[in-house]
Parts: sequence; structure tokens; C-alpha cells
Amino acid sequence: MNCLKKIKNGELLELIAWSRAELSRSGIEEAQEECERILMKLLGCSRSEIYLKEHELVASGTRERFLALLEKRLGRIPLAYLLKEADFWQETLYVDERCLIPRPETEILVEQVLKALGKNAEKKFSFLDIGTGSGAIAVAILRVFKNATGTMLDISGEALEVAQENLKRYVLEDRAKRVRGDLFEPFSSNEKWDLIVSNPPYLSEKDWEKVQEELKFEPKRALDGGKDGLDFYRKIIRGAKGHLTSGGLLALEVGQGQAEEVSTWLQAAGYDNIQRFDDHLRVQRVVMARGNF
Ligand code: GLN
Repeated sequence: MNCLKKIKNGELLELIAWSRAELSRSGIEEAQEECERILMKLLGCSRSEIYLKEHELVASGTRERFLALLEKRLGRIPLAYLLKEADFWQETLYVDERCLIPRPETEILVEQVLKALGKNAEKKFSFLDIGTGSGAIAVAILRVFKNATGTMLDISGEALEVAQENLKRYVLEDRAKRVRGDLFEPFSSNEKWDLIVSNPPYLSEKDWEKVQEELKFEPKRALDGGKDGLDFYRKIIRGAKGHLTSGGLLALEVGQGQAEEVSTWLQAAGYDNIQRFDDHLRVQRVVMARGNF
């Protein structure tokens, strides 16, 4: 992208203004924020420190590295993959192309799960995270509950490598087991958990046609929920029945417009206490239920 070569070596502020305009022009919405995040990473400083240096000249090495990242970002590679990190809940997780980037809406799932588990941080329980990806949900739970143990399941061995990075980053390896496999298939029928949580792939074929370009860089297997987007709910609702302890909690993130149907299926399958929770955009985003089977 030769246009990037046009930016002359100047003050940091000029570099920000110029690159923000480039990002906006190519349709990237949070242009200012993205520029700042790239600079924070490259300069190893906070946002406010960037502006303390705004009239300093940018070292040519920094400028080159910045422009190289900007060029990739203009090619629509998600920022989290370029920076190899994503903020989620109270953590900054390692991420790369091997896993889905954790989303803000999944923080609603974590929030509601933590609420349902209660305030006692000493509480001892086990959980299964289906389709753990980067391990975002499991890491958040394990960090709050010091006596919890987690099983992190994914069909992708590569995603589990990323999950391992994050377990290491937060020193949680002792309390988490990683399992590769398809839903409940790797587990014996007597294996049970107090909590089964999942943000399964839930995009429908129709959704897939209108997704942002960035999503095409993410593992399709982590997003594709089949024709109507609901394939995984059918299987999880059925399968979890045999793997929840008595009174155990099933907590699912759902896509826009899916909560109603998922709730109906939970009811038909005999779950109790079915609840739905909205995200910040008032989309019903989380469905939870208790199992007494
Ligand atoms: N929330 C994601 C998106 O719409 C989808 C995540 C998923 O399929 N679980 O980009």
C-alpha cells in the first residue's frame, strides 16, 4: 500500500491524525481508538502517556513498525490478531488466528454466570466450557473462584494451544484440563459438572452473508452454527442433561433472535428455572437454566 509511504517523519500527533483518517476512510469505525492501541503496544505505554509525547518526533523504527501494522489493519485483519491480545473481562488475553477473538457480548455471559454462582469466592465447584477457544470464559471463572476446576473443551487443537497460553499467563494450569473433541463425545457418561457454559458458534447461513470483513479472518468453525445457526444448541441441550450434577447450571450465549427458541427447547427438555438476560444493546444474549435430572 504505497499511500502509506507518503507520511513524512513527523510528530506523533501527526502520525495519529493521518492514520486515523486512513482507517476511517476505509470504513473502520473506532479509528482513533485503534491507532492509540497500536501505539500503546509499540511504545509500551498507556493512552495518556501517548499524549504526553504527542509533540515528540517518532523514531523511524517505530514509524516503520506502526505503518506495517496499519497496512495489515487496512487489509481488515482484526486488530486483536495484529496486537496478539484482546481485553476480556478483567484480563488481557493472548489471541491469534487459531482462535475466535473474545467479544464484549460474552462478558454478559460471564457476568451472569458469576452472579448465579454467588459471592463466595471460596466456593468449590467444577465446570465444563464447551468451545473454549482462547479460554476467555474459563479463565475469568477460574480467576474469581480460587477453588473451582474447569474442563476446557474444543474441537480445535490449535484453539486449545491458545487456551493453554492464557492458562499459563494467569497461572491456572493446575485447575484446568484441556480436552479436544466434539461436544460430549470425549466424556464418559458418568462425568458430571456443576456448571456447563458455552458460547457456541451461532451464526446462520444468512448471517454469514452479511458479516463484517474482519470475521473472515477468524476460524469459521467457531462461528458457523449451521443453516439456522442453532445446531449447537440442539446438541448441547440434549447432551448436557446427562452431564450436569443435580441442580447444576447450564449457561449459553445466544445470537440475536435465538433466545426464545433456545428457551423453548430447554423447557421441552425438562430444565427448570429458565432465565434470559439482555446485553447492553438490549439483545437477549444469555439463556440459563438449571438441570434436575
Ligand atoms: N458474537 C459473534 C459475532 O456475531 C459470534 C460468536 C459466535 O458465533 N459464538 O461476531
